[in-house]
Amino acid sequence: EQLDKVTIVGSGAWGSSIATKIGRNCARLPFFEEKVSMWVYEEMVDVEGSDEKMKLTEVINTRHENVKYLPGITLPENVVAVPDLAEACRDATLLIFVLPHQFLPRLLPIIREAAHPSCRGVSLIKGIDFCKEKGTPILISQGIAEAMGDGFECGVLMGANVASEVAEGQMCESTLASNFGPPADEITRRLFDSPPHFRVQHITDVQGAEVCGALKNVIALGAGFVDGVGLGSNTKAALMRVGLKEMAKFCHMFFDGIRDDTFMESCGMADLITTCFGGRNRKCAEAFAKRQMKDIKEGRVISYDLKQSEALWTKIEADLLNGQKLQGTITSKDVYNLICARNVTADFPLIKKIYDIAYGGHPVEEIVLGISTVPTPS
Ligand code: NAD
Ligand code: 13P
Repeated sequence: EQLDKVTIVGSGAWGSSIATKIGRNCARLPFFEEKVSMWVYEEMVDVEGSDEKMKLTEVINTRHENVKYLPGITLPENVVAVPDLAEACRDATLLIFVLPHQFLPRLLPIIREAAHPSCRGVSLIKGIDFCKEKGTPILISQGIAEAMGDGFECGVLMGANVASEVAEGQMCESTLASNFGPPADEITRRLFDSPPHFRVQHITDVQGAEVCGALKNVIALGAGFVDGVGLGSNTKAALMRVGLKEMAKFCHMFFDGIRDDTFMESCGMADLITTCFGGRNRKCAEAFAKRQMKDIKEGRVISYDLKQSEALWTKIEADLLNGQKLQGTITSKDVYNLICARNVTADFPLIKKIYDIAYGGHPVEEIVLGISTVPTPS
């Protein structure tokens, strides 16, 4: 039996966090080669106890810690940071894609050249693409499969998984959605499943799981707006209820074969909840709301134009996330363009309102209008 050779493509907060599970499982289970390569986008980082900056790969391979994206967590020693993408993916049979999706397209031709012909993949990326010509959504896993060519199968791992909490070993769940068939589905599930802390359920609805993972980041921007305006848990719960319904409607409108029970898995309702309370999208949207309200109150602007909104998001991301990346903002634009192209914005009042506030200069207080789905009698 050939052992799976696992490569992790990406090493941000979630890439490094999941490397703690993958590394341990590859060291203890009989299905995998022990060494796990992790492709690291090389950069120079500050390191405690050193006057000079060091290469991030060197720090990871000597200190076994990703000091920039997941400080304070020890990575297993069999996880080896590799700065060269082709070298990291050489002969890989199981690729784990975990990086902000805007960086993926240029990498795929290199990965395809290097990986083993029988390779399969799992995407942990929460995002979505949009084909302008056809007016259709393109799943990241679908884009990966097409770029990798001939028979490449790509599943997804989505769930209520704030990276730092998973890395600390707090109990949580995740959903692997794949159609590799037996025994590859179960072997792949066991790559991630880490009893008793990190429990992974398997489902076959890849599209449903992935769309949930992408759209909950948009709804989480709305949760940040609710927080920024100073509204409480009741309002946020209303936003999450309406958001979940719009997520389900979007899935059924644009994809065939979506299963309603997918929304009850970790990748559905649970991820929406954790992201609306503990995620980066929520946090940055709260900062956006507070800044907009202050600018308007102090007379600096009447409303932002698109350029000012984009500049503010970029500044907030840089100020609050130390190199980590927001996915909800890009997804909000792609999803908005898609529902406009298909002339269905009226079906998604909350998603539209979140876009209008994020990029269309609408006052953040209008978030409640996106939630109120009951018509007001005149
Ligand atoms: P991150 O936002 O923590 O880090 C950004 C990463 O992008 C870094 O690894 C950085 O090196 C890399 N990068 C910067 N410029 C680059 C370039 N030009 N080319 C290639 N890479 C570059 O990343 P993350 O949190 O690991 O996010 C990856 C995916 O995982 C996203 O889709 C995210 O939605 C998803 N996710 C994140 C979490 C979380 O809690 N962080 C949880 C679940 C899923
Ligand atoms: P954020 O990107 O908003 O931090 O969400 C993390 C996540 O996906 C938790 O499951």
